[in-house]
Order: sequence, then structure tokens, then C-alpha cells
Amino acid sequence: MESTIGKLFRKSLSLAKRKFRCPVCGYLGPFEGFCGSSGFRKHARCKVCSSLERHRLQILVLRELMKQLDTATMKMLHFAPEKMFSEFFSAQFGDYETADLSMEGVDYKVDLQCMPFADSSYDFVFASHVLEHIPDDIEAMKEIYRILRPGGIAVLPVPIVAVETVEYPEPNPEEEYHCRAPGVDYMERFSQVFREVKVFSSDMFDDKYQLYVYEDRTRSREHVPLRPVMSGRKHKDFVPVCFA
Ligand SMILES: [Zn+2]
Repeated sequence: MESTIGKLFRKSLSLAKRKFRCPVCGYLGPFEGFCGSSGFRKHARCKVCSSLERHRLQILVLRELMKQLDTATMKMLHFAPEKMFSEFFSAQFGDYETADLSMEGVDYKVDLQCMPFADSSYDFVFASHVLEHIPDDIEAMKEIYRILRPGGIAVLPVPIVAVETVEYPEPNPEEEYHCRAPGVDYMERFSQVFREVKVFSSDMFDDKYQLYVYEDRTRSREHVPLRPVMSGRKHKDFVPVCFA
């Protein structure tokens, strides 16, 4: 008869080999663990296209959203452009432009808090994991609102890593110079600026895509001393869709 330890070992092995579907590239199989700035996350990265949890949730939300849009006639601005999304967006949108404060190869090197674009210049803005790097994030949201046409859409996800948002006294070198640790309450900031906000989360899509962040945040960690502990080892990710 197999020992309890043997059974547990087999179970953990089969869990480690759980198969998922990548909605970005279509791969089917186990996802790899990934060591980010705040620790190890299991089931995180697609072996083929390197998509992480957030990319998979974002692409599902974007596809859902874009079903209802005539993107061929729309002008979009992509901040801090990720290669895997650049190809997707440029194939969909009639007019596609990129921007960043410091990245090489973008169309515009601009500061989100003060952009050189006229009011109502764009129909769609995408900036993922950008606002946590911006000292005055509300000013950046106001600028995005200003450059959007009425009814325009901004998709602005940030890493949600706390219950309540913690503002850091200065950009934190331990966390890739983030100016804050956004909490679940961060979504309320978008409502201060935009006409309407819809928040999509990991639990709104099929588990086969593995959209959760498996990260133990229950213990104080030396490398992220300013971030408070929170319960749980499996966390939802969020995608705020903001309407101008
Ligand atoms: Zn993939």
C-alpha cells in the first residue's frame, strides 16, 4: 500500500503539472513558476509566449471589450508598449501610436502627467502597470481623460498588492521604483476622474486560463518592507476599464 507521504508527493506532482490554456498564444500545458520582484509565483508564465497572469486577464478583457467596438476607425495610444500587445493592437486599430517616458523606439517620449496632445485626440488608451510608477497618478488619469474623445476608453491596470493603498514617501527602489502599493480600494481613484468605470477580475473568466496571482503575502518580507502583509496565498488580479 502506498504511504501517505507517497500520496502527498504524487498529488503535489500532479498539481504542479496542472494544464492550462494560454489565451494569448493558444498553448496548452503547465505554466512555469516566475520569480518577480516580490517573490515566487507558481503557475505564472506561459512557456511559449511568456505571458504572465496579468497579460492573460488583460487579453481576455480586451477581446470582450473590442467585440463591441469598430476599432478599424479608432485611434489608440499604447503606453509602455509590451511587444505581445503591440502586434495585437496594431492589427486591430486603424491608427496605432506608442508612448513612454524613457523607452526607446516609441512614437512619443512623454510624461503622462503632462502630455503634448490636444484634447480629445484618442479613442482608446492602454497603460498597464504604469500608474504605480507615476508620482501624481490622479494628474496622469486627468491627462488621459483629457486626451480621450467623449465616450473614449482607457484600460489602466495596476498591480493590486495590498488591501488598502499605501503611498510610499519616495519611489521605492526595492519595488522597481513604484510610488505606491495599490490596494483593492485603488479602483475608486478612477471613479474620481472618469465618467464610468467597469472592473474586470480573475474570477470572471474560465479557470483554465489561470488568471490568479499565487503569491504568499501573509508574512512580512524583508525585500518589500513598506508593503503591509495581507491574508491569502492566491490573489485576484483586476483590469479597470474607464470611460471618458
Ligand atoms: Zn502563451
